[in-house]
Amino acid sequence: MTAVSEIKKVHVPLGDDAYNIYIGTCILADVELVKPYITSKQICLVTNQVIADLYLPTITDTLTRIDADIQLQVVILPEGEQHKNQSALDSIYNCLIENKFSRDCLLIALGGGIVGDITGFAAASYQRGAAFIQIPTTLLSQVDSSVGGKTGINHRLGKNLIGAFYQPKAVLIDINVLKTLPKREIAAGMAEVIKYGLIRDIDFLHHLDNIMEDVMALSPDVVAEVIQTSCQHKADVVMADEKEHGERATLNLGHTFGHAIESLTHYQTYLHGEAVAIGTMMALELSRLHTWLSAADIDLAERLFKRADCPVNLADCPIKLSPQDIRAAMQRDKKVRAGQLKLILLKALGEAVIDSDSSEAAIISAIESRL
Ligand code: NAD
Ligand code: MG
Repeated sequence: MTAVSEIKKVHVPLGDDAYNIYIGTCILADVELVKPYITSKQICLVTNQVIADLYLPTITDTLTRIDADIQLQVVILPEGEQHKNQSALDSIYNCLIENKFSRDCLLIALGGGIVGDITGFAAASYQRGAAFIQIPTTLLSQVDSSVGGKTGINHRLGKNLIGAFYQPKAVLIDINVLKTLPKREIAAGMAEVIKYGLIRDIDFLHHLDNIMEDVMALSPDVVAEVIQTSCQHKADVVMADEKEHGERATLNLGHTFGHAIESLTHYQTYLHGEAVAIGTMMALELSRLHTWLSAADIDLAERLFKRADCPVNLADCPIKLSPQDIRAAMQRDKKVRAGQLKLILLKALGEAVIDSDSSEAAIISAIESRL
């Protein structure tokens, strides 16, 4: 990957918690950019082994060039969603406490959404709040999980049940790291990118249609711009509704269907973004049944997902799921409040709506269209 022409910036103006997101190439080695955020000599960098092998030397070198006297501790978390738990969190607390880190210390999350969510929650809770910065290394974490301040861990009875809203001091996005990311993880991140276009930006959808080849080839300027637009959308939604009382829910387009598919396939078949792509196609079909979308609108969304290597139906699913199975699993989604299913649908491309009036027959029919 060659260098991007310039470093892009998205400002997230959340009052005292305001921060910047920087997007560019070679950010990990950019001493001048990183320096202002190194506010302590006590630094706890959290990552996993895969990412440490690839990128720890570069970031360590950058940190020591910024300050030769830093006291750097590295915590390597075990890989995988099943380890996004209290024990991983404890390993961070242990490191901080055993090394006598004060609340003025700095935590750095170097990794995907799992590392970011756990590290953010460790920062939120250590001595009632320590500073942290996010260095997201998956496309999904660069366009979604590192922005917006949701941090947390899973409980054995459910995902993300324990956590806090807590904002980082900065998000540093180095798109060079996407070169080593498995292709399926790129596709999973792209599902969330396409989602931003579907819920709030029709021009972005058409733009993606024009540039998808370059995105998938990881052309640096194109990827940087797509990440910037995505972060701006996420930031706009979060600013309008930080604690998810209303608009933030629209980010869940396709997610209630998607979560049902993920859970019925025991989280073994699809990455989250892949299940969301299929779930989004179901939500769009339901929107079409409301006569809000046209067949041409559905075709555009399907084309974008396919070109981003996302599945658009359950044809290849090794477990045969019935519409009734999926519908029942949707009712168990944690977003279902007081038994009422609220779905994010589209009134038009680029315009999301929260709907609780779809008929059961329409929901089943929308699911059936993607089996
Ligand atoms: P992940 O963190 O598991 O990373 C995916 C895989 O890629 C892992 O195997 C990881 O080791 C590997 N990897 C990471 N960066 C790499 C790189 N540059 N090169 C090679 N391999 C690399 O998965 P994810 O999709 O980034 O995050 C999923 C998590 O994010 C879930 O736990 C989900 O709940 C959470 N999430 C949080 C939010 C939020 O708002 N906080 C939003 C969406 C998702
Ligand atoms: Mg998601």
